[in-house]
Amino acid sequence: MTHAGYTGALDIGGTKMLAGLFDEEGRLLARKRIETQASQGVLPVIARAALLIRELAQETGISPDRLTGIGCSVPGPLDSERGVVIFSPNLAWRDVPLAGLLSQELDVPVRIEDDARCAALGEARRGGARGAQNAVYVTISTGIGAGVILNGGIYRGSHGCAGEVGHMTLDANGPPCACGNMGCFESLASGTAIAARARQALLHGDETLLARFRAEPALLTAQQVIDAANMGDAVASRILETTAMYIGIGLAAIATTYDPEVIVLGGGVIQPDGALFQKARETFQARVISPLGSLVCIVPAQLGDESALWGAAALISDGRPLAIRQVIDV
Ligand SMILES: [Zn+2]
Repeated sequence: MTHAGYTGALDIGGTKMLAGLFDEEGRLLARKRIETQASQGVLPVIARAALLIRELAQETGISPDRLTGIGCSVPGPLDSERGVVIFSPNLAWRDVPLAGLLSQELDVPVRIEDDARCAALGEARRGGARGAQNAVYVTISTGIGAGVILNGGIYRGSHGCAGEVGHMTLDANGPPCACGNMGCFESLASGTAIAARARQALLHGDETLLARFRAEPALLTAQQVIDAANMGDAVASRILETTAMYIGIGLAAIATTYDPEVIVLGGGVIQPDGALFQKARETFQARVISPLGSLVCIVPAQLGDESALWGAAALISDGRPLAIRQVIDV
């Protein structure tokens, strides 16, 4: 890695944005998190992101002209070459020239990348897949996404769809998915799937700590099922076991597709020392084709809420020549 100067990084999410400032050695000097306030519209969000970077520079005593560039993680799909967010449902953005607009605000080159790919790059540089040349980061929360690192760099595929593992079919007649298909990995193994199974159990009248949601099942979340399982609730534990089985089967499909050294599991549903993670790893080892069960490591993400931030910084510090700044008229 080359670090010619200081690097700024942004992780713009649907509800929160995180900014970080990294020194020449790639160390995180300071970070700051604020609400995204996406409902205010594109330009106010970008102005607040730029202000966040300026504040970090001021607080660390670094002149903004010493910034080599800004790497920015944002929910896609997006065109990283052109620096344009094509469509981001979480932010309600469509065709936003994010790199150009941020570059104009801060007068430094800006590179953008999809959030799951940034998280994959971050974990491959500094986290659970540190040192791996081939790694897949899988995030399991409301939905399921992934970022693929091949030969040390981000792999986007021929049409930008590499890593859309949440929508591979694992059950031909499985539950409907938000994508319009049925039986997708996401519809069977995400936080949404956990909550749906719990609602189903309530409909059956099962005896469980979750029974308090019987009147308002819409309020039931995956986290409440995880909490109930941690308190020894048998119904919640069974739901997590079923979900973990599908996670393990999904990971086996990913391992045979990309043959990585490591698969890093992140996202709100994954507790590193929890039964769900352990069961998913066991299912993976039992289901995947030999010899991958003993060769592919399944590890929890290590960078917490900073996976994508570290990856965003690596977009700059990896040393690819930076594009000439664009001037965008809005
Ligand atoms: Zn789907």
